Amino acid sequence: MRVFLVNPASANGATGRRWAELERRAAALGLEGETMVSERPGHLSELALEAVARGVDMFDCVIPTRNGRTGSAFTSRGKLNIRNARFADDPNPLDPDCGCSVCRRYSLGYLRHLYQAGEMSAATMISHHNLAFFLDTMRGVRQSITSGTFSRFRREFLNKLQENQEAGV
Ligand SMILES: [Zn+2]
Repeated sequence: MRVFLVNPASANGATGRRWAELERRAAALGLEGETMVSERPGHLSELALEAVARGVDMFDCVIPTRNGRTGSAFTSRGKLNIRNARFADDPNPLDPDCGCSVCRRYSLGYLRHLYQAGEMSAATMISHHNLAFFLDTMRGVRQSITSGTFSRFRREFLNKLQENQEAGV
């Protein structure tokens, strides 16, 4: 059995007690056995989809808002950090595939400007997007389960994420 665990580097360098807790949770999901730690930055959606595939129905997580406060956004193209200088003049939204009010109205460049200026609104808007991304993803999961197409949804979601990350999007 292959197991996805969050990349230690993406879990605040999870070591010792924190890493043991991640392994305990994986074991509780029946995910013990061969352990695969991703070489690339972890995307929490991967672990969530693996958990759904094993029957988990509910999730509770501070990551969307905690990461939002530090300028990290979860997107269909992987995780990005608004502090990155390459976004300074970027007219695109956080996630072109997201329909949330932040992605419809504000550019990466504007959000980066707010964040760098210490405006609290940047953290609020990135958190808003992250919550929308997680809710949209789980809505897609529920719909695909209802229609009996979860395996395809999961495969297409992870393929899209991997393709965009490999393309450096
Ligand atoms: Zn959005």
